[in-house]
Formats: sequence, structure tokens, C-alpha cells
Amino acid sequence: MKVELKNLTKIFPSRNKKVGGEVVAVNDFTFTIPDGKLVGLLGPSGCGKSTTLYMISGLQKPSSGQIFFGDEDVTELTPENRGIGLVFQNYALYPHMTVKQNILFPLQNLRGEDRMPKEEMLERAYRVAKLVQIDELMDRKPSELSGGQQQRVAIARALVKMPRVLLLDEPLSNLDARLRLQTREEIRRIQKETGITTIFVTHDQEEAMSISDVIVVMKLGVVQQTGKPQQIYDDPCNLFVAKFLGTPPINVFEGEVRAEKLYIGGAAVLDVPGVEDRAVYVGIRPEGFIPDANGGLRCEVSGVDVMGRDVSIVSRHGAMLTPSVRSIVDADYKLAEGQTEVAYALKPHKVFLFAKDTEERIYFGV
Ligand code: ATP
Repeated sequence: MKVELKNLTKIFPSRNKKVGGEVVAVNDFTFTIPDGKLVGLLGPSGCGKSTTLYMISGLQKPSSGQIFFGDEDVTELTPENRGIGLVFQNYALYPHMTVKQNILFPLQNLRGEDRMPKEEMLERAYRVAKLVQIDELMDRKPSELSGGQQQRVAIARALVKMPRVLLLDEPLSNLDARLRLQTREEIRRIQKETGITTIFVTHDQEEAMSISDVIVVMKLGVVQQTGKPQQIYDDPCNLFVAKFLGTPPINVFEGEVRAEKLYIGGAAVLDVPGVEDRAVYVGIRPEGFIPDANGGLRCEVSGVDVMGRDVSIVSRHGAMLTPSVRSIVDADYKLAEGQTEVAYALKPHKVFLFAKDTEERIYFGV
């Protein structure tokens, strides 16, 4: 089921009564979520991700704009009539019911012509339980399950009505790191197996990158960029997006362009054909540095982290705007005993320039 958002806007009266005024939680959001895809809504706290999800679910009414499921305008429909499955961060299972009863609950509440015979309900409940791999746990109570298992029950309960769209609001936040990893892979598998169009809200860029077909990056209610995860990482449209994606994060420097050369701290570090003379912010991905004795970017070494396959050199530079400069280099590279300075050449496609006023990307060499 294709989901189309047209100029979706949500304005709340400010929660701060003293200051008054309004908060534009979501501002003119237009986007089409393709049928059968998993879309990650990504952004820092307060950027409007949950509000967007709640508008798609029908729990919140847009101030303006429209929502379509396929060709059907669902903007005015109640949540029950939209055919959605919702999963929240805190599982929200009924503690006094068994897993089976929890999963059956939405089916037992169907009214009118949607009502179904008991055998069909049971058959459906067991089918989704099997899909999320909790069919062995049907007689347990939620308190007898791990966090990951509880979240699977919540997903099964959301799926049992065969929703047209599955909406997940930070579903992994309450899980520990290992379970989070495992459960996110599970969600991906379940989504692929069912082919249900899914919208996944998270503030965790790594989670969004790993699970999504398409990512929507938001800031202060405004969509910044949409695209495949790798595409956004490789081609961020502004400094905010560049900083938000990637671990370790992008390194940012003050820089200057003169005669189509980029200078950082007075040293020429890269040719930037087509860029006029101006002061810029320079973003360099950690994997964009090549240790090279003749390289123009000279940093003062403050430490080396070995991370399995890779080595990360932590250093400092007078023009850096991030707390340190972190490069990821080949594990074979070794700093000499007592070496205090490292010089880098740069990979042009890992270097991004941004205007200092708008923080929009300035493209070069294209
Ligand atoms: P988080 O990850 O912290 O949940 P979010 O990106 O999901 O953040 P929203 O919860 O959608 O952000 O909130 C977006 C903005 O709207 C915030 O500034 C928030 O304070 C404001 N907001 C959300 N709900 C209300 C409300 N009911 N009344 C007033 N302001 C609200």
C-alpha cells in the first residue's frame, strides 16, 4: 500500500504557557512512501517524527494537508478505520493476559461484518506468532518474557489484523544493545516477508541506516533530505544531515577557498574546481583521510583506537570545529614510535563543503 503525505502540517499551542505562541511540529511535509517499503523517519528529539507518525495513524489530526493510503484519502478517518498496526517503544501489552490473549485481542474486538469465527482468529494468531517466532510462548504472561520477546508480541498483535500500513515508534529503544541489534534484523525480516509498507521512527541514525529502504531526515519539523541510506551518507545536502549520519561522526573544520584550492588552517589540502573564493565549513568523513607525509592537513596526534579491522587515529587541529579529528585508516598503518604529528591527503569524494551562512552544501568537481 502506497502512503502519500501531501503538505502535512501540525501546529500545537506551545506547552510553555508563560511564553505562549505556537510550535510547528511538522511543517509542509510532502512525501510518497512506496508500496512495500520500509521508511525510516530519522531526526533528533523534537524534530516532529512522532507527530508525523501519529498523523499517519490518525491519533493526531493534521492542522493542514492530506494523507492517502493508495488512492484513498484517509485524512478524516479514525485510527480503527485506517487499517494500521501500531507498535510503541513501551510494548503496551496487557499484563494480565497471556501472549495468546494479547495477540487475539484486536481480532476479538472486531465488530459487524469484520467479526470472524474463533478458529480463524486462532489460526491467524498462531500464524503471526510463528512469523515473529514466539509461537512457543503463547501461554506465558508478558512478565515472563524478555524485552525482545515482549516487543515481538507487540509486533504480532499489530500484524494480526493484517494492517495496510505498519507504524513503529522507536520500537527498539527499551532493549539492550544486543537485543536491539537482533530485533531490528527481525523487524526487517518480518517486513520483507509480509511486504507491508512500514514506517519506522527512530533518533538512532545507525538503526535507520541499517533497516530502511528509504530514510527521511527531519529537523525542527522540516524534511531535510530523503533517499536511500547510503545515498544520503555519500551525498548529504547540508551540514546538519552530514553531521547526523555516520559513526564516528563527520569531522568539521573552518576552511577557505582561494583560486579553486581548499585551505584548512592556512595549508592547501585539496583542489576544489568550480568553487568561488569564500569561507566555508569543511566536512571530512573519517574514512576520507589518507596518511601521507606530503599531505597538506597536519594534525597533532592525541591517541590511537584499534577497533578490530580498523585503526582510528584521534588528533587535533587548530581549525577543527568538532571536539577532535577522528580518522579511520587501514589497520596496517602504524604510527612511528613517538610520532606526534600525522599528515593527511584527502579523498575528494569524502570531503564536503558547506556555505557558512545557510550551511547548504557547495558542490565541486561536478
Ligand atoms: P522525540 O524523539 O523526543 O519523541 P520527535 O521528533 O518525535 O521527538 P515530536 O514528539 O513529534 O518530536 O514533537 C515535535 C515538536 O512538537 C516538539 O517541539 C514538541 O515539543 C512539540 N509537541 C509534540 N506534541 C505536542 C503537544 N501535544 N502539545 C504541544 N507541543 C507538542
